[in-house]
Amino acid sequence: MRKKIIAANWKMNMTVAETVSYLESFRVHVEPVNGVEIVIAPPFTAIAKLSELLGGSQKIRLGAQNMYFEKNGAFTGEVSASMLRELFVKYVILGHSERRQIFGETDALVNKKVVTALASGLRPILCVGETLEERDAGREKEVLETQLRGSLAGVTAAQMNDVVVAYEPVWAIGTGRNATPEQAQDAHKHVREVLAELTDAGTAAKVRIQYGGSVKPANAASLLGQPDIDGALVGGASLEALGFSEIVKAAVA
Ligand code: PEP
Repeated sequence: MRKKIIAANWKMNMTVAETVSYLESFRVHVEPVNGVEIVIAPPFTAIAKLSELLGGSQKIRLGAQNMYFEKNGAFTGEVSASMLRELFVKYVILGHSERRQIFGETDALVNKKVVTALASGLRPILCVGETLEERDAGREKEVLETQLRGSLAGVTAAQMNDVVVAYEPVWAIGTGRNATPEQAQDAHKHVREVLAELTDAGTAAKVRIQYGGSVKPANAASLLGQPDIDGALVGGASLEALGFSEIVKAAVA
């Protein structure tokens, strides 16, 4: 009942020219694929071009990697929700661990962005996940709960239908070390339980929860086969069109 969603987070990679040739080949690879939602989140500089090339495609949706919560004004270097909407961006990645760790984003800031995104018609892909230190201390569930409660404060049950949660253990991001399908399933189940406490069981059952952290064509099927894993947020392996299309195909296998 939950349509799988596979998203590419290109991070600070891909020029406009590279985006054009990527899409040309990616489209051919995913042409026969149906029943899975694909999202590409390029850097801001490539959004306009990708938007033009996608032309409102229902199959490949446009994403952004971040946004600011204010409408406009003196916020050098930031981009607003309406600027993204103007380019037909549908999803926005919020609270990524790199934003949290490198740029100091807190749950309170992420919450303002989530609330603004939803009010603006954007669907947040809200990232949560524990560090290795937190997992080693047995605190992963508590950390997930704190991040979810903080980042989703004030979000109604109706709005939760537009939220995608990405469980991304920090120790698995860009390290080549993915969570085992069992570890990921355990965390996803917990995320869904917290979402049920925040809203209700029926709403939580409909929320899509992606796994992120060193997803590759070789491990995608086993992760995506878990009952509470509804998709993947893919960094490094999404930079190559063929490999990313294989991950997309693993979602329908
Ligand atoms: C990410 O940054 O969201 C991510 C999951 O990266 P990678 O796939 O490279 O681990």
